[in-house]
Amino acid sequence: QAPGSDDSILVIGLGRFGAATAEALTKIGREVMAVEKNAELVQAWSTKLTHVVEADATNLDALRQVGAADFTTAVVGIGTSIEASVLATANLVDLGIDQVWAKAISVSHGKILRRIGAEHVLYPESEAGARVARLVSSRMLDYIEFDDGHFAVVKMRPPKEIQGFTLAESKIRATYGVTVVGVKSPGRDFTYADPETRINSNDMLIVAGHVELLGRFSSRP
Ligand code: ADP
Repeated sequence: QAPGSDDSILVIGLGRFGAATAEALTKIGREVMAVEKNAELVQAWSTKLTHVVEADATNLDALRQVGAADFTTAVVGIGTSIEASVLATANLVDLGIDQVWAKAISVSHGKILRRIGAEHVLYPESEAGARVARLVSSRMLDYIEFDDGHFAVVKMRPPKEIQGFTLAESKIRATYGVTVVGVKSPGRDFTYADPETRINSNDMLIVAGHVELLGRFSSRP
């Protein structure tokens, strides 16, 4: 498959974030073309990724020459240099790439990226920090928040007070304001939760609800 064809993705900058993104994309079977200005990094990654080219993404002509305009999705992993991140992002937008995901290192950086046309802004460090804070301080084992930040789905162990009872008996929704979507007992298949589902201490729950209520529910002993 040629770079720039339908489902291939352009990754700019093979720092820690860009490289991890490119590697994960490759693992899930997506074609990746990476653009990096540092020759040593290009060399190091050329055996692990399908297409790695040495070019300066702040230079519009250089991006044109490597065929960047053929992509519909690009990820800008440049962070430390805000100037380079902004110029590279602006270039990708100017080349008509529809889905530009750009990494920001601060809120103002993110604002600029949005303003110059990045469709998605990522804050990997502050997002990872917020996530770790939730995971270490509660029963949550995994956490997915929706865009508006009000609603989430979590994977968690059941609080003591609901262990041994059915969902109907512990009146989960009325008492805690959260909805148990599914339950997985060790060695058994995942099942969708219904009022008769009995929760055991070693079960894993998938729970949906407002972030604040989930926070309270998952912090119970
Ligand atoms: P991280 O924190 O994820 O490692 P960095 O900002 O330190 O992110 O890394 C950015 C990467 O992008 C570096 O490998 C750097 O060489 C590369 N890079 C920076 N500017 C450009 C540019 N103009 N064109 C291409 N690659 C660039």
